[in-house]
Amino acid sequence: MRLRDSLTECLYRGLCICFLLGGGAVVLLMVSYSHRDRGREYVPRNLPLRSINSQLIAARSSPDILSNVYISVKTTPKYYDSRLSILKKTWFQKVDKEKFTIVSDHFNESFVDLKLFEEEVIKEGFHLVTTKCQVEHHRKGLCCKSGVEYEQFYNYLERHKSDSQQVQWYCHFDDDIYVNVKELSNLLSKYDPSKPYYIGRYPRRFGFAVDSFRFGRLKNNYNVSRRIFWYSAGATYCVSLALMMKLEKYFNGVDKFQHTCAVSEYTDDLSVGAIINLVLGYNITHIDNMYNQATDLKKLSPEAVSKLVTVGFSSGKTVNMIDPQPRLFTSTEDPTRFLTYHCLLYKDTSWCNTEQ
Ligand code: UDP
Ligand code: MN
Repeated sequence: MRLRDSLTECLYRGLCICFLLGGGAVVLLMVSYSHRDRGREYVPRNLPLRSINSQLIAARSSPDILSNVYISVKTTPKYYDSRLSILKKTWFQKVDKEKFTIVSDHFNESFVDLKLFEEEVIKEGFHLVTTKCQVEHHRKGLCCKSGVEYEQFYNYLERHKSDSQQVQWYCHFDDDIYVNVKELSNLLSKYDPSKPYYIGRYPRRFGFAVDSFRFGRLKNNYNVSRRIFWYSAGATYCVSLALMMKLEKYFNGVDKFQHTCAVSEYTDDLSVGAIINLVLGYNITHIDNMYNQATDLKKLSPEAVSKLVTVGFSSGKTVNMIDPQPRLFTSTEDPTRFLTYHCLLYKDTSWCNTEQ
């Protein structure tokens, strides 16, 4: 067994070297090809779009705004003020609250401001669930919280199983993501939810290798179908109902999700990608207009920005954020630029003070 494993490993490494040598040529081919064929799936394209100085256009109309989409947002109390309050004011106002869940952490009631914020969220009609998971940015805590997110979805399905119109999609977003709901609706309407779809963006410019240790653990525990580089769309993705049904046994509830994470030793979003891609054998449907850390937001034209399905921001060492014009707020008022973006997409929003 060991000899066979090391031979497989050797072969794999050999293939990797060939891949790297041939990589330059392939990248050149991809660059020229991506310009010709923008509609194609599964081809990573992180090339900056041409920058032009026109104003951001209003949100496109959409035939059926997310009527069959369930959305889950993962947050934690320390981000209520800096993140969730911005989302609550903007894109959260555009979703169907019945099919929308915010999953956060339980905290000590003596934090009055946090408690007041939660009360406000609930009073506005949002469904907020607080878990007893470990409050941490590590595997155990995050997988526990994701288990609750998935459980909420399956419970929703169960409660609504006799509805004439069933939910057909599950979408997951972190709390530093602005969702352009009309674009999301337009996007999902192009896919058949009775087929297995995992819709998102390739995680990094050149993929993310499955290391042999983790791959070995997956293989020992599951019937792994293949080993590929592109396997996780990160924390911003949508899954069709057909695929969600196949994922239930891995992710429904804290115990199952944490078990899957413990086996793979991956965090939540990588575990989701690993099960879908490596175990079940379904590719990511790569969407150029969905955001991840490899997206260079500053280089997008205003028109391209207005067509983004999801927008993120980072203000750390490498600043990566949109800068839609005209700036309607100061950087202090609108550090993520999500407020400006929302106002330009929805010009009739009361607090925007934009001219009609
Ligand atoms: N998060 C969490 N608990 C924590 C820290 C972060 O649930 O202790 C959530 C956070 O609300 C967000 C996601 O995990 O939805 C990713 O966090 P962040 O954006 O801070 O880090 P990233 O992984 O993007 O670098
Ligand atoms: Mn983040």
